[in-house]
Amino acid sequence: MLNFILFRWWVASHCAQNMTITVSKKLMQQAADSVNKIRATLRYLNGVIDDKSEILNDKSTFLDRYILSALVKHENEIWKLYDTYEYHRVVTNTQNFVANHISAIYLHTIKDRLYCGDNVDIRNIRFTLLNCYKVLCSTVWPIIPFLVEESWQYYDPKRAFHQQNFTADPVWKDVDAEKTVGVALEIKRIVNQKAGSANSFNLEVEILYNKNNEEMQMLRLLQGDEAKVSSNNSELCEILQVQRVSLQPSNHVDSTNINVKKLELTLCARCRRFAVDNADCVCERCALVLANR
Ligand SMILES: [Zn+2]
Repeated sequence: MLNFILFRWWVASHCAQNMTITVSKKLMQQAADSVNKIRATLRYLNGVIDDKSEILNDKSTFLDRYILSALVKHENEIWKLYDTYEYHRVVTNTQNFVANHISAIYLHTIKDRLYCGDNVDIRNIRFTLLNCYKVLCSTVWPIIPFLVEESWQYYDPKRAFHQQNFTADPVWKDVDAEKTVGVALEIKRIVNQKAGSANSFNLEVEILYNKNNEEMQMLRLLQGDEAKVSSNNSELCEILQVQRVSLQPSNHVDSTNINVKKLELTLCARCRRFAVDNADCVCERCALVLANR
């Protein structure tokens, strides 16, 4: 990597109100690791956006709405930090946003639909990915412009990134999606603790809630059809990354009860997401996607 990119990142990382700024091989290595992570994320996003003519947003999931809302918040925070010259906080906020929101929450969760889903799924995911890419480019540009311009050339060779006039759309701010996905992510944390190292798509999760609980209402929205108690393809299954979720409303449960059951399943040979009867066949979703190609 070009040294001046590293130096710019290192200067920004240590730009606190501190009279002593240290430099060492270890600190430069940390700066290199951090920039490499940003560069790898830009490269991945640029690669999966792929077909620009297919980018539309016609059926947002709660998770897409959640991430788009997070982009608005992140962008606002970063510009406030630039205004107050707190570049070291720009660096840490960016690192956290890339590691937690973009990678751990969004990219990890949508992987199945991105690689194996139908055209509508992929088109909507690309809309969100493109905006993650643009927000990341615009918010790190003041510190590492050369890295951003290098990446942007692969997206739009005709115009440099600084010639774009991009900002996250304030209408993406979505408090309902933030709350709803927040509840599901908290349940995911508990499921992961209980499941240990098992492949999560071999898990069945049963959630018992008091039916008047506000969180239960949110989970029912993620389960799709409100009448549906059990589902293997709801958005709640996708966020939890499990085979099946059952929502059991109850009059008696004071607190949430989450039961995790490990199943012995044969998974679809194409997506490794849905259970199938035998190892030679693909799931219904994959059969439909392949038939429409
Ligand atoms: Zn499949």
